Amino acid sequence: MKHSLAQKKPRIKQLPDNDGYFGRFGGKFVPEILRPALDELEEAYDKLLKDPDFVAELDRELKDYAGRPTPLYFARNLTDHYGKARIYLKREDLAHTGAHKINNTIGQILLAKRMGKSRIIAETGAGQHGVATATVAAKAGLECCIYMGEEDIERQAPNVMRMKMLGAEVRTVYSGTKTLKDATNEAMRDWLTNVRNTHYIIGSVVGPHPFPMMVRNFQSVIGKEALEQIRQKEDRLPDYLIACVGGGSNAIGLFYPFLSFETVKMIGVEAAGMGMDTGRHAASLTAGSPGIFHGMLTYLLQDEDGQVQLPYSISAGLDYPGVGAEHSYLKETDRAQYVAVTDEQALEAAFLLSRLEGIIPALESAHALAYLETIMPKTDRDRIVIVNLSGRGDKDMQTYLSFLER
Ligand SMILES: *Cc1c(COP(=O)(O)O)cnc(C)c1O
Repeated sequence: MKHSLAQKKPRIKQLPDNDGYFGRFGGKFVPEILRPALDELEEAYDKLLKDPDFVAELDRELKDYAGRPTPLYFARNLTDHYGKARIYLKREDLAHTGAHKINNTIGQILLAKRMGKSRIIAETGAGQHGVATATVAAKAGLECCIYMGEEDIERQAPNVMRMKMLGAEVRTVYSGTKTLKDATNEAMRDWLTNVRNTHYIIGSVVGPHPFPMMVRNFQSVIGKEALEQIRQKEDRLPDYLIACVGGGSNAIGLFYPFLSFETVKMIGVEAAGMGMDTGRHAASLTAGSPGIFHGMLTYLLQDEDGQVQLPYSISAGLDYPGVGAEHSYLKETDRAQYVAVTDEQALEAAFLLSRLEGIIPALESAHALAYLETIMPKTDRDRIVIVNLSGRGDKDMQTYLSFLER
């Protein structure tokens, strides 16, 4: 084993702390009435982590149901295209339901069952998390209700059909901007009323403690596998990890197991939408400021009065005004770097990957790929880059086709 594998220094403490803080970010900003539910969840989760039956069942489900481990694919054509560092793709697009979201919903449904809950709720924007939730709820035989904004229901018809076919009720949210932010508010309201029998499966590393920690731990299977796989293929650590950031779950899932290896650089790619100077973007870490949103303190798109601003991205999965609290922490400690690419750059990258490698990426993942244009010229041939391919592009075909026709 080469020298670089031995440089493991515990620089980042085990986080979050007991109150759910990553540095000054995170926490549990919820109405008093929800506290007992969050405490119950935290307790159940701590207990289950130490239960060998639960751990074995989680492993088995990830393997036999979700199709893990997903491959770490050496993208030879993409590598030759840039003529620089070797590019590997972590193939989350090959997981069941077509994205990394299933890693989290499998974990949380097992948790809900052990807690004796009979009903599952979730919010969804693009519908990917709704599908992943409806999928595991169907398998577990639990009642399932998905909140979705009216606008998103229209934009994401195929995923709405998938959820219905899986037996979930899709509840239309007519309030506010009729998108993800409002669907999240409605789901939270439902949970307040029905917390006794209902578990709320949050879809990313956001919300009040313990969700950001729990979802990160379920998603960190991505990074654990990638670490093992790159050691086997290259016998060394990667130099760069690149992932798109909406709420931040696929990114932290890849980053987390590598955090203590100081030589590994981590880059989170946000949506610059129509351009950072147009104000029409979803880049909370690049252009936002700390504030309280959805139960946590984190970077957030807000105006001077603290009003949450409407985010925009061509990719519905990145169209969120906040970001996971742990990413705010990694930004402030400089352990990870956050950048943004435009709709246009993401679309170009999606076509490049499709044409060179025969893989049609999700629009979200295409944001991570687009950053290769910036980073690759600065790398050498003996470097290694891992890009998290968070999902497949079937759901985005309409958008891709309109771009092609233009
Ligand atoms: C939902 C989604 C994302 C964004 O969510 P994160 O929590 O930031 O990972 C990214 N890629 C795909 C394919 C998604 O479905």
